[in-house]
Amino acid sequence: MQKLALIGLGASGLFALKELAGADVEVHVFDVGPTYEKRYACPIDQGKLTVCPPKACSYCAPGQSAGSWNDFKVILSASPVIGGRLYDLVGEAELQKRLDMVRATILQHAPCEIPVVKPNADDLEWIKKKATMAGMTYHYQELLHCGSDNAPAINTSILDEIKSKGSNIVFHFDKKVVSVARRNEKFAVRSDRYRKPEEEVEDVFDLCIVSVGRGGAAWLTQQEFYKALEINPGQVDIGIRVETSAFFTEEVDRRFYEPKLYYRSRHSNDVVRNFCSNPKGFVTPENHRDYVLVNGHSKMYEKSENNNFAVLVSKTFTRPFKNPQMYSQTIAKIANMLAGGGPLVQRLGDLKAGRRTKSLTNNLIKPTLEAECGDISLAYPHRILESIVEYLDAFDKICPGVAGESTLLYAPECKSYPDSISVNKNMETNVPNLFIIGDSSSWTRGVGQAATSGILAGEGVRQKLKIGMPAASKLVPVG
Ligand SMILES: Cc1cc2nc3c(=O)[nH]c(=O)nc-3n(C[C@H](O)[C@H](O)[C@H](O)COP(=O)(O)OP(=O)(O)OC[C@H]3O[C@@H](n4cnc5c(N)ncnc54)[C@H](O)[C@@H]3O)c2cc1C
Repeated sequence: MQKLALIGLGASGLFALKELAGADVEVHVFDVGPTYEKRYACPIDQGKLTVCPPKACSYCAPGQSAGSWNDFKVILSASPVIGGRLYDLVGEAELQKRLDMVRATILQHAPCEIPVVKPNADDLEWIKKKATMAGMTYHYQELLHCGSDNAPAINTSILDEIKSKGSNIVFHFDKKVVSVARRNEKFAVRSDRYRKPEEEVEDVFDLCIVSVGRGGAAWLTQQEFYKALEINPGQVDIGIRVETSAFFTEEVDRRFYEPKLYYRSRHSNDVVRNFCSNPKGFVTPENHRDYVLVNGHSKMYEKSENNNFAVLVSKTFTRPFKNPQMYSQTIAKIANMLAGGGPLVQRLGDLKAGRRTKSLTNNLIKPTLEAECGDISLAYPHRILESIVEYLDAFDKICPGVAGESTLLYAPECKSYPDSISVNKNMETNVPNLFIIGDSSSWTRGVGQAATSGILAGEGVRQKLKIGMPAASKLVPVG
């Protein structure tokens, strides 16, 4: 039997594995995290804390599988702009077909009814008018919000079903893949215990699916096969996590849950967009071991009085600079440095007035994350901050109050994506039998499309097994 290594069991890896359960291939799954039942529970849910710890939290760290465990919002619409770029790779119909499969799987495994958010004709008329008058563009999306509190049950149930069908699967939890290198036409995979290393073992595989997420972007660039891939530099999103009163946003929250609104900055011509809205949610730290970002999530049952969402500015670079990931991480580290190691928070009124925030004691908006008060303008480029302030002023025309003085801005919220890797329609790279899926391929930016890319790769492997492993078919150039 052929052997396949699946590296990373997040959103994309899980759906690839689902396709491969029971297939005629021996699948070895590696993940730095523990088995799903043993993943950390949120300390707030356990009553151990009342707010997120500012500097690091194991709940939102490597091995916890990011967005399919935190918030777990799933974009269900095949859009050319939202959630990734698979629309360009496989086209609308094929993407929608797989997103429908993702939706069906999640709903089937959900412990309670999860409504699909689908704007109606009146909502669309309403937002089109409001957005146009504010100088913004609305992008349609349907979505599911599972909530961080439902995420463990859903993921565990999907994995249990896979295990019941997959006698061909061997799990290596708590194992970090140290390296993957081509050996003739095969892949030598070296792995070690994640927490107490020094027990490195090597195994050789016929096929390899890499699904290490954004957190594995730097690891990917260090692999032997990386120099053989067809790549273009990726983009970064530098932004702010905004926290405001849920009263200000309640109409858009009720109609859309998260309205995707894009804006072109008058100051820089950069595209600015909102991302990851969490009505009545909580701001969280996102732990990357050597730096801490901010993120947000919300739950199905426990609610705050606030809404938080990211406002992001996308940047790509041309020659001679080729390392956008380092750019965003450097900004993040400067913000952390000013805050004594964690995130910074500043009132919008103070940022506009050019002064540091010293205290939030009497602020109208009560923070849901204990971040250090400070001055974000000391860490962020003026061009980025100016565009974000413009965005909030425009959004205020749709949701009056959002750009008020008391609105809180948390930094750093930076997303650095890996380089853009050329793949075929089944996510196979120009290195035959090497598939790169999910956010580590840079074709996806959210749970829905990451899971879709896993399904595409699983289907590709099954096809190969059926017809006897031909070389990779035509690649789709990076766009
Ligand atoms: C806090 C947070 C909240 C988010 N919320 C949402 C949301 O609500 N909705 C949404 O659409 N998107 C959300 N996102 C984005 C979303 O998580 C990603 O787009 C999605 O998870 C990508 O899936 P993936 O499989 O590519 O990577 P991941 O889900 O990140 O999975 C990667 C897996 O690889 C493992 N891994 C990495 N390196 C190695 C290695 N060397 N060896 C072994 N295992 C390894 C990791 O432990 C992890 O399990 C969120 C992200 C974060 C950080």
